[in-house]
Amino acid sequence: MHVLIIGAGIGGLTTAALLLKQGWRVTVLEAGTYPGGCAGTFFHKGYRFDAGATLAGGFDPAGPHTRVAEILGLEWPVTPIPDAAWVTHLPTESVYQWVDPARWREEYLTRFPFSARFWQKQEQLARIAWDIASRDFPWPPATIAEALRLPLALRPETLAAAPYLFRKVRHLLPRETTPAFKAFVDGNLLISAQAISDHADALYGASVLDLPRRGVMHVRGGMGAIAETLVSWIQANGGEVKYRQRVTHLETANGRVRAAVTARQMRFEADVFLANLTPWGLEALLGEAAPGNLRRETCSRPWMWGAFVVHAGVRAEKISTSITHHQVIVDVNQPLGEGNSVFISLSPLDDPSRAPAGMRAAILSTHTRIADWQGLDEAAYEERKAVYTQKVLTAAERALPGFRAAAELVLPGAPHTYEFYTRRPFGMVGGFPQTSLFAARGPQTGFGNLWLVGDSIFPGQSTAGVTLGAMRVARLVNGKS
Ligand SMILES: Cc1cc2nc3c(=O)[nH]c(=O)nc-3n(C[C@H](O)[C@H](O)[C@H](O)COP(=O)(O)OP(=O)(O)OC[C@H]3O[C@@H](n4cnc5c(N)ncnc54)[C@H](O)[C@@H]3O)c2cc1C
Repeated sequence: MHVLIIGAGIGGLTTAALLLKQGWRVTVLEAGTYPGGCAGTFFHKGYRFDAGATLAGGFDPAGPHTRVAEILGLEWPVTPIPDAAWVTHLPTESVYQWVDPARWREEYLTRFPFSARFWQKQEQLARIAWDIASRDFPWPPATIAEALRLPLALRPETLAAAPYLFRKVRHLLPRETTPAFKAFVDGNLLISAQAISDHADALYGASVLDLPRRGVMHVRGGMGAIAETLVSWIQANGGEVKYRQRVTHLETANGRVRAAVTARQMRFEADVFLANLTPWGLEALLGEAAPGNLRRETCSRPWMWGAFVVHAGVRAEKISTSITHHQVIVDVNQPLGEGNSVFISLSPLDDPSRAPAGMRAAILSTHTRIADWQGLDEAAYEERKAVYTQKVLTAAERALPGFRAAAELVLPGAPHTYEFYTRRPFGMVGGFPQTSLFAARGPQTGFGNLWLVGDSIFPGQSTAGVTLGAMRVARLVNGKS
């Protein structure tokens, strides 16, 4: 049986490797010249810049990346972050996200003494959610076989999560709270659930608030080394990864996909097709053949977020902190994103592969509404980019004084940049905001031999999230073959 995967993002590559391990013939077609998509790493003027993702989680013993490594027998090029996964810089204080749970407890009790019960509940719900995830919970079920599997992943202690099934994170927040505390929680949720506490699902939100203590790592050579490790494994085990092969069209007949056609007019037939795409990207490939459900979905689902980023080369002697990830919230009373919340990642001091001698590679990113970047003429678009560049550099200055002066290279990227380099329509990134478990999207497409993988399907964004989704799709495809 031959499976063809469109896209060499982490979701596509992980599914490819797992199916190869199970005896499938595997071909991955990638439009770009390197793997990883939003979690890729690109070369520019001697720097290895991460394209988007910078924080690698899910490498704890039961974490999705660890489980995939065990199944495939591979080793990730990672080393544990020893101290703080990141620091959130609020206007009046900085909160350290220690990886050690005891140290973290001390931190939140010092910074937010009123919040102990919130974190206790969050930890309890997170334990339950991660435990279910480790037992392969195919949510939302795409087949009857998957629906029958659901109860097997549950345990008596899972019942404690039942009252929270329809709640939002805001329902867990302490009654007596402060704008700084809410902004702190919201900032965490926005980067990991794509929604703030008012909207983020309580169980999902609780689980991602645990991220700093779920196996966060430095990836040697940048995030792209995760994808590169998968590609090496696929190639060493007889699979194919073909670059510069942008799929432009899927041929269909009788409710099945027959072949993928690329911009170079090459035609690839297979038994099963996996699209490492958003629903909008898939619809474009299907054209007239797109099923009604998919068309309705792309019209009715709210858009994902976009990202505005600045890749910067900074002098290491001026920005010498050993903590590699920082989040800045400029004004706790204003909505987050749009330069008011900025995530900053620096290449580790001990990874010389990332930048020219004496320099560090930095990436600054903020959530931005896609719609605001649409319909602008070139001058207006460039002007907007210039304004956002200043906003994120000003935010960086708060966390890392002297940043602006230390930056010798400043390379801004807006939603169109992501659209161009990751081929995600409109530059929508990060998957769907996780607002309700009952609105979650599964991998089904309306075709019996075509499935979605990647951050559009539950549990959504992050390399850990898309890896969980990939494991689920590999089981689904293998079970149906
Ligand atoms: C700014 C930013 C910061 C982020 N920060 C983090 C973080 O710190 N930690 C974290 O874990 N996650 C982070 N994420 C999210 C994470 O990067 C993504 O959720 C994840 O990498 C998405 O993986 P994916 O499998 O959905 O594929 P994608 O990354 O979307 O890759 C899809 C691949 O398919 C290819 N492709 C698309 N169309 C075609 C076609 N027609 N033919 C052939 N190939 C095609 C693309 O070129 C691309 O390589 C961040 C994302 C962004 C944008």
